[in-house]
Amino acid sequence: MEKNQEIELVITGTTADGKGVGKFDGKVIFVPFAAEGDILKVKILKVLKSYCYGKIIEIISPSPYRNPQDCKVFGKCGGCVYRHINYEMECAVKYNRVADALKRLGNIEVEPEPIIPAVNAYEYRNKAQYPVALNSDGQPAIGFYAQRSHRIVESKGCALHPKVFEDILKAAEQWIIESKVSIYNEQSLTGLLRHIYIRMAKATGEIMFVAVINGDSIPKSEMLIELLKKAVGDNLKSVQININKENTNVILGQKCITLYGEDYITDILCGLKIRISALSFYQVNREMAEILYQKAAEYAKPEGKIILDLYCGTGTIGLSMANKAKQIIGVEIVEQAVHDAKVNAQINGIGNARFIAADAAESAQMLWKEGIKPDVILVDPPRKGCSAELLGIIAEKFSPETFVYVSCDPATLARDLKLMEQMGYKTKAVTPIDLFPKTSHVECVTLMSRL
Ligand code: SAH
Repeated sequence: MEKNQEIELVITGTTADGKGVGKFDGKVIFVPFAAEGDILKVKILKVLKSYCYGKIIEIISPSPYRNPQDCKVFGKCGGCVYRHINYEMECAVKYNRVADALKRLGNIEVEPEPIIPAVNAYEYRNKAQYPVALNSDGQPAIGFYAQRSHRIVESKGCALHPKVFEDILKAAEQWIIESKVSIYNEQSLTGLLRHIYIRMAKATGEIMFVAVINGDSIPKSEMLIELLKKAVGDNLKSVQININKENTNVILGQKCITLYGEDYITDILCGLKIRISALSFYQVNREMAEILYQKAAEYAKPEGKIILDLYCGTGTIGLSMANKAKQIIGVEIVEQAVHDAKVNAQINGIGNARFIAADAAESAQMLWKEGIKPDVILVDPPRKGCSAELLGIIAEKFSPETFVYVSCDPATLARDLKLMEQMGYKTKAVTPIDLFPKTSHVECVTLMSRL
Protein backbone atom coordinates (compact mmCIF):
# COMPACT_ATOMS: atom_id res chain seq x y z
CA MET A 1 0.00 0.00 0.00
CA GLU A 2 1.28 3.44 -0.87
CA LYS A 3 0.30 6.96 -0.07
CA ASN A 4 -2.09 8.46 -2.67
CA GLN A 5 -2.96 5.01 -4.01
CA GLU A 6 -6.64 4.72 -4.95
CA ILE A 7 -8.43 1.52 -4.06
CA GLU A 8 -11.92 0.06 -4.05
CA LEU A 9 -12.92 -0.69 -0.46
CA VAL A 10 -15.90 -2.39 1.18
CA ILE A 11 -16.67 -0.97 4.62
CA THR A 12 -17.34 -3.78 7.08
CA GLY A 13 -17.22 -2.11 10.48
CA THR A 14 -17.23 1.11 12.48
CA THR A 15 -14.72 2.34 15.06
CA ALA A 16 -15.60 3.82 18.44
CA ASP A 17 -14.95 7.30 17.07
CA GLY A 18 -17.20 6.75 14.08
CA LYS A 19 -14.80 5.91 11.24
CA GLY A 20 -15.65 3.21 8.71
CA VAL A 21 -13.29 0.24 8.61
CA GLY A 22 -12.43 -2.05 5.70
CA LYS A 23 -9.67 -4.45 4.77
CA PHE A 24 -7.50 -4.33 1.66
CA ASP A 25 -4.52 -6.57 0.95
CA GLY A 26 -4.71 -7.80 4.54
CA LYS A 27 -4.41 -4.27 5.87
CA VAL A 28 -7.01 -2.45 7.95
CA ILE A 29 -8.08 0.87 6.42
CA PHE A 30 -9.85 3.55 8.46
CA VAL A 31 -12.06 5.95 6.51
CA PRO A 32 -13.84 8.87 8.18
CA PHE A 33 -17.53 9.33 7.31
CA ALA A 34 -17.76 5.92 5.66
CA ALA A 35 -20.75 3.73 6.56
CA GLU A 36 -20.82 -0.02 7.11
CA GLY A 37 -21.97 -1.51 3.80
CA ASP A 38 -20.52 1.25 1.59
CA ILE A 39 -18.47 0.30 -1.45
CA LEU A 40 -16.07 3.18 -1.96
CA LYS A 41 -13.25 4.50 -4.02
CA VAL A 42 -10.76 5.50 -1.33
CA LYS A 43 -7.54 7.45 -1.56
CA ILE A 44 -4.87 6.33 0.91
CA LEU A 45 -3.60 9.31 2.88
CA LYS A 46 -1.37 7.72 5.48
CA VAL A 47 0.34 4.33 5.59
CA LEU A 48 1.36 2.87 8.93
CA LYS A 49 2.75 -0.54 9.84
CA SER A 50 -0.48 -2.43 10.33
CA TYR A 51 -3.13 0.01 9.17
CA CYS A 52 -3.83 2.97 6.87
CA TYR A 53 -6.00 6.05 6.80
CA GLY A 54 -7.93 6.92 3.68
CA LYS A 55 -10.53 9.36 2.46
CA ILE A 56 -13.59 8.87 0.32
CA ILE A 57 -13.09 9.84 -3.33
CA GLU A 58 -16.33 8.35 -4.60
CA ILE A 59 -19.23 6.35 -3.22
CA ILE A 60 -19.51 3.51 -5.73
CA SER A 61 -22.44 1.91 -3.95
CA PRO A 62 -23.91 3.47 -0.81
CA SER A 63 -24.64 1.49 2.33
CA PRO A 64 -28.35 0.92 3.02
CA TYR A 65 -27.70 2.59 6.38
CA ARG A 66 -26.66 5.89 4.84
CA ASN A 67 -28.49 9.06 5.83
CA PRO A 68 -28.92 12.11 3.61
CA GLN A 69 -26.79 15.14 4.51
CA ASP A 70 -28.68 17.16 7.16
CA CYS A 71 -26.14 19.61 8.56
CA LYS A 72 -24.05 22.18 6.75
CA VAL A 73 -20.99 21.76 8.94
CA PHE A 74 -20.99 17.96 9.28
CA GLY A 75 -17.57 16.55 8.53
CA LYS A 76 -15.91 19.89 9.15
CA CYS A 77 -16.66 20.82 12.72
CA GLY A 78 -15.32 17.87 14.71
CA GLY A 79 -18.57 17.39 16.65
CA CYS A 80 -20.83 14.78 15.06
CA VAL A 81 -19.43 11.56 13.62
CA TYR A 82 -22.65 9.67 12.82
CA ARG A 83 -24.76 12.07 10.77
CA HIS A 84 -24.12 9.98 7.67
CA ILE A 85 -25.71 6.80 9.03
CA ASN A 86 -29.27 6.22 10.20
CA TYR A 87 -30.10 6.29 13.87
CA GLU A 88 -30.84 2.58 14.18
CA MET A 89 -27.40 1.77 12.87
CA GLU A 90 -25.82 4.37 15.16
CA CYS A 91 -27.48 2.75 18.18
CA ALA A 92 -26.29 -0.68 17.03
CA VAL A 93 -22.72 0.62 16.70
CA LYS A 94 -22.87 2.16 20.17
CA TYR A 95 -24.37 -0.98 21.68
CA ASN A 96 -21.65 -3.14 20.16
CA ARG A 97 -19.00 -0.77 21.42
CA VAL A 98 -20.29 -1.15 24.98
CA ALA A 99 -20.68 -4.93 24.67
CA ASP A 100 -17.21 -5.25 23.20
CA ALA A 101 -15.56 -3.09 25.89
CA LEU A 102 -17.23 -5.05 28.69
CA LYS A 103 -16.18 -8.37 27.23
CA ARG A 104 -12.70 -7.58 25.92
CA LEU A 105 -11.46 -5.00 28.44
CA GLY A 106 -13.45 -6.04 31.49
CA ASN A 107 -14.00 -9.80 31.18
CA ILE A 108 -17.56 -8.98 32.23
CA GLU A 109 -20.00 -11.77 31.50
CA VAL A 110 -23.28 -9.88 31.31
CA GLU A 111 -24.65 -8.76 27.96
CA PRO A 112 -25.75 -5.12 28.08
CA GLU A 113 -29.47 -4.39 28.15
CA PRO A 114 -30.85 -2.92 24.90
CA ILE A 115 -29.61 0.64 24.38
CA ILE A 116 -32.14 3.34 25.30
CA PRO A 117 -32.29 5.56 22.22
CA ALA A 118 -32.49 9.34 22.37
CA VAL A 119 -35.93 10.92 22.22
CA ASN A 120 -34.59 13.63 19.96
CA ALA A 121 -31.47 13.69 17.80
CA TYR A 122 -31.72 17.39 16.94
CA GLU A 123 -31.12 20.55 18.99
CA TYR A 124 -30.77 18.50 22.15
CA ARG A 125 -27.73 20.29 23.58
CA ASN A 126 -28.16 23.03 26.15
CA LYS A 127 -24.57 24.27 26.10
CA ALA A 128 -22.06 25.48 23.55
CA GLN A 129 -18.52 26.79 23.84
CA TYR A 130 -17.51 28.51 20.62
CA PRO A 131 -13.90 29.50 20.04
CA VAL A 132 -13.39 32.95 18.54
CA ALA A 133 -10.45 33.66 16.22
CA LEU A 134 -9.47 35.78 13.27
CA ASN A 135 -9.98 33.90 10.01
CA SER A 136 -7.62 34.06 7.03
CA ASP A 137 -8.90 37.47 5.87
CA GLY A 138 -8.43 38.95 9.34
CA GLN A 139 -12.15 38.95 10.20
CA PRO A 140 -13.39 37.60 13.56
CA ALA A 141 -14.98 34.17 13.26
CA ILE A 142 -17.03 32.31 15.88
CA GLY A 143 -17.34 28.60 15.41
CA PHE A 144 -16.02 25.20 16.30
CA TYR A 145 -12.59 23.72 16.08
CA ALA A 146 -12.19 21.46 13.06
CA GLN A 147 -11.41 17.85 13.96
CA ARG A 148 -8.12 17.53 15.79
CA SER A 149 -7.13 21.11 15.02
CA HIS A 150 -7.59 24.68 16.16
CA ARG A 151 -8.76 25.95 12.79
CA ILE A 152 -12.20 27.56 13.18
CA VAL A 153 -15.15 26.21 11.23
CA GLU A 154 -18.01 28.69 11.29
CA SER A 155 -20.85 27.24 13.28
CA LYS A 156 -23.86 28.42 11.34
CA GLY A 157 -26.61 25.81 11.35
CA CYS A 158 -25.26 23.25 13.83
CA ALA A 159 -27.98 20.60 14.12
CA LEU A 160 -27.29 19.82 17.79
CA HIS A 161 -27.73 23.30 19.23
CA PRO A 162 -31.01 25.11 19.85
CA LYS A 163 -31.81 27.58 17.07
CA VAL A 164 -31.75 30.45 19.55
CA PHE A 165 -27.99 29.99 19.90
CA GLU A 166 -27.65 31.35 16.36
CA ASP A 167 -29.54 34.51 17.31
CA ILE A 168 -27.25 34.89 20.32
CA LEU A 169 -24.17 34.43 18.14
CA LYS A 170 -25.44 37.08 15.74
CA ALA A 171 -25.77 39.49 18.65
CA ALA A 172 -22.27 38.56 19.81
CA GLU A 173 -20.91 39.07 16.30
CA GLN A 174 -22.42 42.53 16.10
CA TRP A 175 -20.92 43.41 19.48
CA ILE A 176 -17.53 42.07 18.37
CA ILE A 177 -17.56 44.24 15.27
CA GLU A 178 -18.93 47.41 16.87
CA SER A 179 -16.94 47.23 20.09
CA LYS A 180 -13.76 46.39 18.15
CA VAL A 181 -12.88 43.97 20.93
CA SER A 182 -9.52 42.35 20.19
CA ILE A 183 -9.52 38.62 19.44
CA TYR A 184 -7.25 36.19 21.26
CA ASN A 185 -4.43 34.66 19.26
CA GLU A 186 -3.28 31.23 20.43
CA GLN A 187 0.22 31.70 19.03
CA SER A 188 1.07 35.19 20.21
CA LEU A 189 -1.13 34.85 23.35
CA THR A 190 -2.40 38.38 22.75
CA GLY A 191 -5.92 39.73 22.29
CA LEU A 192 -8.92 39.59 24.59
CA LEU A 193 -11.85 37.45 23.46
CA ARG A 194 -11.24 33.67 23.52
CA HIS A 195 -14.58 31.89 23.63
CA ILE A 196 -18.30 32.53 23.65
CA TYR A 197 -19.99 30.17 26.07
CA ILE A 198 -23.79 29.83 26.03
CA ARG A 199 -26.02 27.82 28.31
CA MET A 200 -29.77 27.37 28.13
CA ALA A 201 -32.07 25.89 30.75
CA LYS A 202 -34.33 24.02 28.33
CA ALA A 203 -37.32 23.65 30.66
CA THR A 204 -37.48 27.35 31.56
CA GLY A 205 -35.85 28.91 28.49
CA GLU A 206 -33.36 30.83 30.65
CA ILE A 207 -30.14 31.85 28.91
CA MET A 208 -26.64 32.41 30.27
CA PHE A 209 -24.03 34.17 28.12
CA VAL A 210 -20.36 34.12 29.06
CA ALA A 211 -17.51 35.87 27.25
CA VAL A 212 -14.26 34.07 28.07
CA ILE A 213 -11.48 36.63 28.02
CA ASN A 214 -7.76 36.99 28.39
CA GLY A 215 -8.15 40.10 30.56
CA ASP A 216 -10.32 41.60 33.27
CA SER A 217 -13.07 43.48 31.44
CA ILE A 218 -14.70 43.85 28.04
CA PRO A 219 -15.36 47.01 26.03
CA LYS A 220 -18.94 48.21 25.54
CA SER A 221 -20.52 45.63 27.85
CA GLU A 222 -23.76 47.66 27.95
CA MET A 223 -24.05 47.32 24.20
CA LEU A 224 -23.50 43.56 24.43
CA ILE A 225 -26.24 43.22 27.05
CA GLU A 226 -28.69 45.28 24.98
CA LEU A 227 -27.98 43.22 21.86
CA LEU A 228 -28.46 39.99 23.81
CA LYS A 229 -31.74 41.26 25.27
CA LYS A 230 -32.91 42.10 21.77
CA ALA A 231 -32.01 38.58 20.64
CA VAL A 232 -33.62 36.56 23.45
CA GLY A 233 -35.80 38.98 25.42
CA ASP A 234 -36.65 38.16 29.02
CA ASN A 235 -34.99 34.78 28.77
CA LEU A 236 -31.65 36.51 29.23
CA LYS A 237 -30.91 35.77 32.88
CA SER A 238 -27.14 36.02 33.16
CA VAL A 239 -24.32 37.73 31.31
CA GLN A 240 -20.83 37.07 32.65
CA ILE A 241 -17.20 37.31 31.78
CA ASN A 242 -14.90 34.44 32.59
CA ILE A 243 -11.27 35.29 33.08
CA ASN A 244 -8.76 32.93 31.51
CA LYS A 245 -5.27 34.37 31.06
CA GLU A 246 -3.52 31.00 30.89
CA ASN A 247 -1.79 29.53 27.85
CA THR A 248 -4.01 26.45 27.90
CA ASN A 249 -6.56 24.38 26.00
CA VAL A 250 -8.83 24.45 29.03
CA ILE A 251 -11.64 26.76 27.99
CA LEU A 252 -12.76 28.29 31.28
CA GLY A 253 -10.71 30.07 33.90
CA GLN A 254 -11.55 29.90 37.60
CA LYS A 255 -13.09 33.35 37.95
CA CYS A 256 -16.40 34.68 36.63
CA ILE A 257 -17.78 38.21 36.96
CA THR A 258 -21.49 38.80 36.44
CA LEU A 259 -22.24 41.84 34.27
CA TYR A 260 -26.00 41.44 34.11
CA GLY A 261 -28.65 39.44 35.98
CA GLU A 262 -27.79 36.51 38.21
CA ASP A 263 -24.70 34.31 38.52
CA TYR A 264 -26.80 31.33 37.44
CA ILE A 265 -29.75 30.05 35.42
CA THR A 266 -32.43 27.70 36.72
CA ASP A 267 -33.66 24.58 34.92
CA ILE A 268 -36.21 21.94 35.90
CA LEU A 269 -34.88 18.40 36.06
CA CYS A 270 -36.84 15.39 37.37
CA GLY A 271 -39.38 17.86 38.74
CA LEU A 272 -36.74 19.77 40.73
CA LYS A 273 -35.54 23.32 40.29
CA ILE A 274 -31.86 23.10 39.44
CA ARG A 275 -29.65 26.15 39.65
CA ILE A 276 -26.59 26.04 37.41
CA SER A 277 -23.59 28.36 37.62
CA ALA A 278 -21.15 28.93 34.79
CA LEU A 279 -18.43 26.67 36.19
CA SER A 280 -20.71 23.83 37.31
CA PHE A 281 -21.17 20.68 35.29
CA TYR A 282 -24.69 20.11 34.03
CA GLN A 283 -25.88 17.33 31.74
CA VAL A 284 -25.99 18.75 28.19
CA ASN A 285 -29.03 16.71 27.19
CA ARG A 286 -31.67 17.48 29.80
CA GLU A 287 -34.38 15.24 28.38
CA MET A 288 -32.12 12.17 28.29
CA ALA A 289 -30.52 13.00 31.65
CA GLU A 290 -33.96 12.43 33.21
CA ILE A 291 -34.07 8.98 31.63
CA LEU A 292 -30.50 8.31 32.80
CA TYR A 293 -31.39 9.27 36.37
CA GLN A 294 -34.54 7.12 36.27
CA LYS A 295 -32.40 4.14 35.35
CA ALA A 296 -29.92 5.00 38.12
CA ALA A 297 -32.82 5.13 40.60
CA GLU A 298 -34.19 1.82 39.31
CA TYR A 299 -30.78 0.27 40.07
CA ALA A 300 -30.16 2.13 43.35
CA LYS A 301 -33.62 1.43 44.83
CA PRO A 302 -33.24 4.47 47.09
CA GLU A 303 -36.20 3.77 49.41
CA GLY A 304 -35.06 4.34 52.99
CA LYS A 305 -31.39 4.20 52.09
CA ILE A 306 -28.26 6.23 52.74
CA ILE A 307 -26.86 7.10 49.33
CA LEU A 308 -23.36 8.36 48.65
CA ASP A 309 -23.36 10.24 45.31
CA LEU A 310 -19.73 10.70 44.24
CA TYR A 311 -18.89 13.15 41.42
CA CYS A 312 -22.27 14.78 42.05
CA GLY A 313 -21.95 18.05 40.07
CA THR A 314 -24.85 20.29 41.13
CA GLY A 315 -26.29 17.40 43.15
CA THR A 316 -28.81 16.35 40.55
CA ILE A 317 -28.68 12.53 40.72
CA GLY A 318 -28.85 12.37 44.51
CA LEU A 319 -31.46 15.11 44.77
CA SER A 320 -33.67 13.29 42.25
CA MET A 321 -33.78 10.37 44.74
CA ALA A 322 -33.93 12.42 47.95
CA ASN A 323 -37.68 12.14 48.51
CA LYS A 324 -37.35 8.35 48.72
CA ALA A 325 -33.94 8.02 50.36
CA LYS A 326 -33.09 8.35 54.03
CA GLN A 327 -30.07 10.50 53.37
CA ILE A 328 -28.05 11.78 50.41
CA ILE A 329 -24.36 12.65 50.66
CA GLY A 330 -22.92 14.25 47.54
CA VAL A 331 -19.23 14.82 46.80
CA GLU A 332 -17.89 17.05 44.06
CA ILE A 333 -14.54 18.74 43.44
CA VAL A 334 -15.77 22.02 41.86
CA GLU A 335 -16.68 24.44 44.66
CA GLN A 336 -19.19 26.39 42.59
CA ALA A 337 -21.05 23.16 41.75
CA VAL A 338 -21.18 22.20 45.43
CA HIS A 339 -22.56 25.64 46.23
CA ASP A 340 -25.23 25.07 43.54
CA ALA A 341 -25.98 21.62 45.00
CA LYS A 342 -26.56 23.08 48.48
CA VAL A 343 -28.82 25.80 47.10
CA ASN A 344 -30.63 23.21 44.97
CA ALA A 345 -31.44 21.17 48.08
CA GLN A 346 -32.67 24.31 49.79
CA ILE A 347 -34.88 25.69 47.01
CA ASN A 348 -36.54 22.29 46.64
CA GLY A 349 -37.17 21.94 50.36
CA ILE A 350 -34.86 18.91 50.62
CA GLY A 351 -33.54 18.54 54.16
CA ASN A 352 -31.83 15.15 53.97
CA ALA A 353 -28.95 16.02 51.64
CA ARG A 354 -25.40 17.00 52.53
CA PHE A 355 -22.73 18.11 50.04
CA ILE A 356 -18.96 18.12 50.32
CA ALA A 357 -16.46 19.96 48.12
CA ALA A 358 -13.53 17.56 47.79
CA ASP A 359 -11.85 14.91 45.72
CA ALA A 360 -14.01 11.78 45.62
CA ALA A 361 -11.33 9.42 47.02
CA GLU A 362 -10.22 11.85 49.74
CA SER A 363 -13.73 12.51 50.95
CA ALA A 364 -14.65 8.81 50.79
CA GLN A 365 -11.73 8.18 53.12
CA MET A 366 -12.94 10.96 55.40
CA LEU A 367 -16.55 9.74 55.43
CA TRP A 368 -15.33 6.25 56.24
CA LYS A 369 -13.44 7.60 59.24
CA GLU A 370 -16.59 9.51 60.24
CA GLY A 371 -18.39 6.18 60.43
CA ILE A 372 -20.83 6.79 57.57
CA LYS A 373 -22.34 3.54 56.27
CA PRO A 374 -23.96 4.08 52.86
CA ASP A 375 -26.33 1.39 51.58
CA VAL A 376 -25.73 2.51 48.02
CA ILE A 377 -22.68 4.17 46.50
CA LEU A 378 -23.20 5.84 43.16
CA VAL A 379 -20.37 7.23 41.02
CA ASP A 380 -20.54 9.39 37.89
CA PRO A 381 -16.91 10.21 37.07
CA PRO A 382 -15.49 12.05 34.05
CA ARG A 383 -14.18 9.99 31.12
CA LYS A 384 -11.04 8.87 32.87
CA GLY A 385 -13.15 6.87 35.31
CA CYS A 386 -12.50 6.22 39.01
CA SER A 387 -9.09 5.83 40.61
CA ALA A 388 -8.12 2.37 41.85
CA GLU A 389 -7.75 3.99 45.26
CA LEU A 390 -11.39 5.12 45.30
CA LEU A 391 -12.68 1.75 44.08
CA GLY A 392 -10.61 0.08 46.81
CA ILE A 393 -12.23 2.25 49.49
CA ILE A 394 -15.69 1.55 48.06
CA ALA A 395 -15.29 -2.21 47.75
CA GLU A 396 -13.13 -3.02 50.73
CA LYS A 397 -14.08 -0.41 53.32
CA PHE A 398 -17.68 0.69 52.73
CA SER A 399 -18.67 -2.56 50.93
CA PRO A 400 -22.20 -1.33 50.21
CA GLU A 401 -24.70 -3.88 49.00
CA THR A 402 -25.32 -1.86 45.85
CA PHE A 403 -22.89 0.02 43.65
CA VAL A 404 -24.21 2.06 40.73
CA TYR A 405 -21.77 3.34 38.13
CA VAL A 406 -22.85 6.03 35.65
CA SER A 407 -20.20 6.22 32.96
CA CYS A 408 -19.52 8.26 29.85
CA ASP A 409 -16.69 6.03 28.62
CA PRO A 410 -17.23 2.29 28.05
CA ALA A 411 -13.46 1.56 28.15
CA THR A 412 -12.79 3.05 31.59
CA LEU A 413 -16.10 1.61 32.80
CA ALA A 414 -14.98 -1.89 31.78
CA ARG A 415 -11.61 -1.39 33.49
CA ASP A 416 -13.28 -0.23 36.71
CA LEU A 417 -15.93 -2.98 36.73
CA LYS A 418 -13.19 -5.56 36.32
CA LEU A 419 -11.42 -4.20 39.37
CA MET A 420 -14.67 -4.20 41.36
CA GLU A 421 -15.30 -7.82 40.33
CA GLN A 422 -11.84 -8.72 41.62
CA MET A 423 -12.82 -7.13 44.93
CA GLY A 424 -16.01 -9.09 45.50
CA TYR A 425 -18.66 -7.35 43.38
CA LYS A 426 -20.70 -8.78 40.54
CA THR A 427 -22.01 -6.87 37.52
CA LYS A 428 -25.77 -7.41 37.43
CA ALA A 429 -26.88 -5.14 34.61
CA VAL A 430 -25.50 -2.55 32.23
CA THR A 431 -27.81 -0.23 30.31
CA PRO A 432 -26.35 1.94 27.53
CA ILE A 433 -28.25 5.20 27.03
CA ASP A 434 -27.78 7.53 24.10
CA LEU A 435 -27.38 10.98 25.60
CA PHE A 436 -25.35 12.27 22.68
CA PRO A 437 -26.96 11.22 19.38
CA LYS A 438 -24.81 11.71 16.27
CA THR A 439 -21.62 12.04 18.29
CA SER A 440 -19.27 9.22 19.23
CA HIS A 441 -20.27 9.31 22.90
CA VAL A 442 -22.42 6.79 24.74
CA GLU A 443 -23.44 6.74 28.39
CA CYS A 444 -23.97 3.60 30.53
CA VAL A 445 -25.59 2.92 33.88
CA THR A 446 -24.32 -0.21 35.64
CA LEU A 447 -25.66 -2.08 38.64
CA MET A 448 -23.22 -4.09 40.74
CA SER A 449 -24.02 -6.08 43.88
CA ARG A 450 -21.77 -7.30 46.63
CA LEU A 451 -21.33 -11.07 46.40
N1 SAH B 1 -23.43 13.54 38.52
C1 SAH B 1 -23.40 14.86 37.96
C2 SAH B 1 -22.04 15.25 37.40
C3 SAH B 1 -21.32 14.25 36.54
S1 SAH B 1 -19.94 14.88 35.65
C4 SAH B 1 -24.50 15.04 36.95
O1 SAH B 1 -25.14 14.08 36.53
O2 SAH B 1 -24.75 16.19 36.56
C5 SAH B 1 -18.58 14.50 36.65
C6 SAH B 1 -18.37 15.46 37.79
O3 SAH B 1 -17.22 15.00 38.51
C7 SAH B 1 -18.06 16.89 37.38
O4 SAH B 1 -18.93 17.74 38.05
C8 SAH B 1 -16.62 17.10 37.86
O5 SAH B 1 -16.38 18.42 38.31
C9 SAH B 1 -16.51 16.12 38.99
N2 SAH B 1 -15.15 15.65 39.34
C10 SAH B 1 -14.09 15.49 38.53
N3 SAH B 1 -13.04 14.99 39.19
C11 SAH B 1 -13.45 14.80 40.47
C12 SAH B 1 -12.82 14.27 41.64
N4 SAH B 1 -11.56 13.85 41.61
N5 SAH B 1 -13.54 14.20 42.78
C13 SAH B 1 -14.83 14.62 42.81
N6 SAH B 1 -15.47 15.13 41.73
C14 SAH B 1 -14.81 15.21 40.58
